[in-house]
Amino acid sequence: MIVERFVLTPFQQNTRIVVCEATGEAACVDPGEASEELVDFLRERDFKLKAITLTHGHLDHVGGTLALAQAFPNAEVILHKDDENLYYGLPEQPLRMGIPSVHLAAMGMEYETPPRLTRNWVDGENFAVGELKFEIRHCPGHTRGHIVMVEHARRAVFVGDCLFAGSIGRTDLPGGDYETLLESIRSQLLSLDDDYTVYSGHGPETTIGHERHTNPFLTGVYQMTRGRFI
Ligand SMILES: [Zn+2]
Ligand SMILES: [Zn+2]
Repeated sequence: MIVERFVLTPFQQNTRIVVCEATGEAACVDPGEASEELVDFLRERDFKLKAITLTHGHLDHVGGTLALAQAFPNAEVILHKDDENLYYGLPEQPLRMGIPSVHLAAMGMEYETPPRLTRNWVDGENFAVGELKFEIRHCPGHTRGHIVMVEHARRAVFVGDCLFAGSIGRTDLPGGDYETLLESIRSQLLSLDDDYTVYSGHGPETTIGHERHTNPFLTGVYQMTRGRFI
């Protein structure tokens, strides 16, 4: 499995291209913005883009979907149904986040409506990219339709904005809910073994074990400071 990271958007979002080395089949996890880098990486190595796999519908994760789908029109575009409103409402997302419209052009946030999804994720499905097999797990809390992609044989999980090194996703945006996110992390991520590599939507890679033992939101430290225990 090749995992190539591209840090894009003013939010320093991790766009990743994941490739099955045996077959050359690839998926792009969360294309954050239109980027020639992504297209060149795939074309120069003759990788076949099978799908644009979206963890959730926030602008810094789907902003590059249109450009990539235009470059690779046969690629599937897949998102959970509970984030469709966010996705199709992409042009309005910056305004809802409080970014003044006069700044949109300078920030590269003048979005067109993204392409039609080819289908929705189903919780528990197995999604193949060549010989890679991703188990799709619904992980709501950061958004309603957030999913994570688990590759058990390669001990890897792509978590979008659910979990970060030392932190968790924000829950103050529409569709966010703190208790729901913690429950998702407990049931869908901490149920994985400690040696799984965690590929987050922002920041460095980490592991399930490192977060289980040191992440203040998961060890209880953060809860204790609020006078509560997990
Ligand atoms: Zn997000
Ligand atoms: Zn994000």
